[in-house]
Amino acid sequence: MIYLDNNATTTIDPLVVDAMTQQWARGPFNPSSQHQLGQQASQQLDLALLEMGRCLNSDFTTPGGPRLIWTSGGTESNNLALAGLGDDPAAPLIVSRIEHPSVLRFAQLAEKSGRQVSYLNICSDGSVDLNHLQELLDAQHSLSPVVAVMSANNETGVIQPIEQLASLCRAAGALVHVDATQSIGKEPLDLATLPIDSLCFSAHKFHGPVGVGALWLGAGVNIRPHLIGGEQQLLSRPGTIPVPLAAGTAKALSLAVGNLSEHRATMVRLRDLLEQRLAAAIPPLVIHGVDAKRLPNTTCVSFPGTDRQSMLMALDMAGVCCSSGSACSSGSSPPSHVLLAMGCDDALVSSAIRFGVSRFSTTGDIDTAAERICLVHKRLTSR
Ligand code: PMP
Repeated sequence: MIYLDNNATTTIDPLVVDAMTQQWARGPFNPSSQHQLGQQASQQLDLALLEMGRCLNSDFTTPGGPRLIWTSGGTESNNLALAGLGDDPAAPLIVSRIEHPSVLRFAQLAEKSGRQVSYLNICSDGSVDLNHLQELLDAQHSLSPVVAVMSANNETGVIQPIEQLASLCRAAGALVHVDATQSIGKEPLDLATLPIDSLCFSAHKFHGPVGVGALWLGAGVNIRPHLIGGEQQLLSRPGTIPVPLAAGTAKALSLAVGNLSEHRATMVRLRDLLEQRLAAAIPPLVIHGVDAKRLPNTTCVSFPGTDRQSMLMALDMAGVCCSSGSACSSGSSPPSHVLLAMGCDDALVSSAIRFGVSRFSTTGDIDTAAERICLVHKRLTSR
């Protein structure tokens, strides 16, 4: 099997498994326990936090400074941020039309319950429309809104202009939440300089463990908890913190950012090779977001004249793992809300497939995958 679905999840780095195995061997570990073993666990958690701070350029040791809240992943962190950021639970929300369902569905439900929600338009290249953002900000007259935009899209890989967006929001007194689930560990990130209020991610997208992630909060940014329980994480997110998962996350992030430019170069080379091979053999192919800045590993390709479900099934049989848009919706496979928001027509939307390489992918993987994709395409279009 050739795994080209690294935007859905990644294989865990063996060095991360080693780091977590060492932690599990140390147990038991409840970092809130008063006894020596609890305190040892707490020290391991502090080490993980220190490493996270180093990777994100964020000092988590100063009281009143930025904070990192451990969660179960990007979905929970997005929910926590949208429900809990800002002084008022009824603060208006502005979300882009291409957000992950953990943001979009949250916004739709909040709207049904009476919260004011605005949807930010997308340009045809896949990036958010900053002129529209300014209009939406200008139209807010009362409470400061919470603006939620992803740093890079999970279907097209298009990188969003977060710095410009954040400056516009700051000037308008809006809070900014960034879903960095797809870009963290693949794009440089400096939280000491980015003018945002919160940011979230999942560890399994950068060769870390599944079931853990975090919500970063800027200095002085408060959050209302969405779970009720003990006093862990200053009441912001109650529940026993999984120390081995936190240690695994820190190890995975450190491995990802430690050699970022080398990993990026590998991924870009392989992604571009795949695109070149496919474009040469299949002339009507369309690469979405190709004119925008994209993640190094992602390509979203439409094969006009085919249907994405048949293509996916045939590719799976041929030993190539990929997906039609987001893994979170591919079970039911509705048309991609991302491509629709970019203004793509039905033929393009219904034939789009996403491929994602990783730093562990090889030239051999791409050669074989390209060959199989071309064969499958030929078979499906010559019926
Ligand atoms: N945001 C984005 C952009 C994602 O791609 C994903 C995962 N597909 C999530 C949030 C949710 O992450 P998780 O499923 O790990 O909670």
